[in-house]
Amino acid sequence: MLDELAPAASKASGAEHAEFLSLSCIAHYRVGDNEHALPLCEQSLAMARESGDQHAIAKALLAKAYALFAINEMGQAHQLVWQAEKLAASSPDLDLRLRATISSGESYAEDGNFPTALSKMQAAATLARQSGSPLYTVMALNSLAYLYNQMREHAKAFEVLDEAYRAAGELNSPGRLAILKTTDYAVSIDSGHVKRGLDALQAALELARRANADSMIGTTYVNLSDFYLKQRDYKNALASAQQALEQSRRIKNESTMATARLNIGQAYLAMGRLAEGKKSIEEGMVWFEKSGHMPDLQSALTEYGDALERAGDMAGAVQAYHRERTLSNELFEKRRQKAMVELQEKYEADKRQRQIELLRQENQVKSTEIDNRRLQQRVWWLLALVFALSAVIVYFLYRKVRQANAQLEEKNQELKQQSARDPLTALYNRRHFQEFMRGHQEIAQRGAGKDANASEEMVSALYLLDVDHFKHINDTYGHGAGDAVLREISEALREILRETDMIVRWGGEEFLAFLPAVPRSSLDDVARRLLSGIPARSIDYQGAKLSVNVSIGFAPFPLAPGGKSMSWERAVNLVDMALYLAKGHGRNRAYGVQGFAGDTGMSMEQIEQDIEAAWRAGSVELSVVQGNWQELRAVS
Ligand code: GH3
Ligand code: MG
Ligand code: MG
Repeated sequence: MLDELAPAASKASGAEHAEFLSLSCIAHYRVGDNEHALPLCEQSLAMARESGDQHAIAKALLAKAYALFAINEMGQAHQLVWQAEKLAASSPDLDLRLRATISSGESYAEDGNFPTALSKMQAAATLARQSGSPLYTVMALNSLAYLYNQMREHAKAFEVLDEAYRAAGELNSPGRLAILKTTDYAVSIDSGHVKRGLDALQAALELARRANADSMIGTTYVNLSDFYLKQRDYKNALASAQQALEQSRRIKNESTMATARLNIGQAYLAMGRLAEGKKSIEEGMVWFEKSGHMPDLQSALTEYGDALERAGDMAGAVQAYHRERTLSNELFEKRRQKAMVELQEKYEADKRQRQIELLRQENQVKSTEIDNRRLQQRVWWLLALVFALSAVIVYFLYRKVRQANAQLEEKNQELKQQSARDPLTALYNRRHFQEFMRGHQEIAQRGAGKDANASEEMVSALYLLDVDHFKHINDTYGHGAGDAVLREISEALREILRETDMIVRWGGEEFLAFLPAVPRSSLDDVARRLLSGIPARSIDYQGAKLSVNVSIGFAPFPLAPGGKSMSWERAVNLVDMALYLAKGHGRNRAYGVQGFAGDTGMSMEQIEQDIEAAWRAGSVELSVVQGNWQELRAVS
């Protein structure tokens, strides 16, 4: 039927085609054709995966699990079943869900995990009962009963079987009933109910025949022969086993044929027909070996040895036992190696995973470090930039401040100059002199003192000069000429006097000279030099030679009439009085105060009021220096 469906299936959707391949796979392994079964299952799984249909994948996984189970690949088969169960859990396909749950329970039982197996099986039973389908109920309960039997819960197994029989009553399926009867047989034998076991088996055989289930007839005959062997009824055991062989040969079920041969051999051996027995058992074992059913081969060898021993063939028995031992060692070694390889693989995978994780972490650390370094560099660059910029700014600000300071200093100097100097002659002005005298009070107190080298007394001195008839210059030649004359006088004063002497423009055409240190005896000489030096200089003004005479009043400083030192203001006033005298006595001359006579009864105030009267009275001693008239006349 599957072959007929093949062309249509290849045109169907991926999921449907996958299911068709699954069914083909199952059909092949059911008839023992494992060689063709597994590739079909793999094709089916690949196609299901390609279709992306989760339920198709679950079906393909289950089919492949069954095919693997048939070739004894239990571990792999279990894993696939559990994968399938997860995918099937959400499926609306009850058949799929139920088969996946039952298979999962069976797998757990085979794995020795009975509690989980039981919970799965009970869940399957509940699902089946809820569905109301007698078929599903029989399927689930049969598996549950089988599990209870495995768990030695025989009473519960029988109870479940009862419920299953009731459901089967509604089903009218001799095949399903035959399966139930087979389970019944197993539970009965294991619980010591021999009679019930035989009845169940015979019923199963009858039902299988009615169902035309050739394969089932074969296996039931095998079971029957097992039963008779256990009952030491070798005649019936042989007959049943031969029936099984004949039946399974017809349908080419090699697995059943092999088991039947083993049973035939056992029966022969028990009946003392050693050669036939050995031959049959050896033939049977070939298939187990060939198809890789090693654990079955191992138990076959044990039974073989036991049977030979019972039959008295000790050498044969030892040989069988040896073979069993060798196989056992091989199997153990294989399992050990497999476990080792699996462990190694797992270890390698873990190691790789750890290395990958380490590398990943290292990478992360490295990239973080690089990021940090980059950030740090950026920060340094920024800092450097900020620093450079601020340095430039600071430099410019500093330069500006310095320039400003320099300008300010210049301006200050200028201002100071301006405030201290007379703009026309560049001599000190009156205010500067006042400030100077205020700042040097000690001069008024101590005078110049004695020169260390000179034998003479050194004094300071004040000379007040007033140009004679200056108004005439202005009136005759104009103000500009007057200014020029004033400038020329100041030049003359600078030339005549010392650098250390302070020359002041005292008023319009009046000059004051303060000589800080001069020998007392030279005072008149200085006056004389001034009187002759100033007229000696002339200026050319519009063809005319202009020169002037001066009148001078002078005095040493400080003056200390009656031992009391006089303030500089009063001293200047006194000198002014002397100048006034010089003017009054004909100009171009100098009058100098020499000293005071203390016993004339004139007070200082009186002397200051009228110096001429004081002079005549002898209260004050004056020296008179005459200017040079000839020269003056020659000029004018
Ligand atoms: P005397 O001999 O009595 O001193 O006569 P004088 O003309 O010099 O005296 P007077 O006080 O009568 O005149 C001083 C004149 O000096 C008056 C004023 O116009 C002039 N004068 C004062 N300051 C300046 C100045 O800076 N430049 C010029 N060109 N003339 C000045
Ligand atoms: Mg004057
Ligand atoms: Mg004058």
